[in-house]
Amino acid sequence: MDSDAREWHADREAVFERDEYTCRHCGGGREAGVLRVATVGETPVQGTVHESSLVTLCDDCYVSITRPEETNSIDSQSALFETIQDVTKRQSEAISAVASVGSLATTIPGSLEDGTDLEYVVPRLDALVVLESVDATLGRLEGVADSDALESIASPSTGSELASRLEAFCASASTLQEQLRQVLEQAELVIVGLGRCHGCFSPVDPTGETETTCSTCRRAIPAMDEWRESDGSVRFDDLYGTINASLQASSRTTTTLTTRTQAVAQLLVDGAMSGSDDAVDRD
Ligand SMILES: [Zn+2]
Ligand SMILES: [Zn+2]
Repeated sequence: MDSDAREWHADREAVFERDEYTCRHCGGGREAGVLRVATVGETPVQGTVHESSLVTLCDDCYVSITRPEETNSIDSQSALFETIQDVTKRQSEAISAVASVGSLATTIPGSLEDGTDLEYVVPRLDALVVLESVDATLGRLEGVADSDALESIASPSTGSELASRLEAFCASASTLQEQLRQVLEQAELVIVGLGRCHGCFSPVDPTGETETTCSTCRRAIPAMDEWRESDGSVRFDDLYGTINASLQASSRTTTTLTTRTQAVAQLLVDGAMSGSDDAVDRD
């Protein structure tokens, strides 16, 4: 996501209207304050940015996603605990957002055939927004795990154990991020295989031979070579199989992550129970 830089242009009103004037991350509306338009995913952020790269965000979400360094620092065990919970909550939203794009990818071919109109652009954006929001929060946590700050917030007896458990948590969470992004990319390949742009859903050359950039949104269209038979047809079943395998891998990571979350939380709760001056609620 880009910051407030204005060297790019967009039809902001069209984005607000598509998103019904609500934040695509928290669902807050105008009553919550100013709404902003932010770029999401890999976007050439200059010139005119197509609305398939843009989302509406409320001011709070905008800051927490695009400028996490401006949010409160993690300077106590309870702040650490809350941030871990925040990562976990956002990541479970990411799992369901990505899974729905994955299942959309398997239902879209049929819907194109029978003419039902399935919405692809916005669910994809929703998945990207929540993935970026996990990145932002996880980045803050990794910053603490890597720094001396952890020593000052951990109790002396648990300090080094906390550091290693926190590191383990961050490692699993970032593996899960990679796996979810993989699912999204594989789902996008299905869309490209159907002859559509994986961002804006406009028709593109299905053979991929003459067109590498979408003429509507100017996005680079990924090559499909490894998913094509020699006659040019797409091996959709193999692609679906890969999407399923990636989803299963991400679900195994989620299991590991849950264990590691509990391990950090337990240490923080124990630290609070053993008389640290910084209490953490049990629930
Ligand atoms: Zn919001
Ligand atoms: Zn496009």
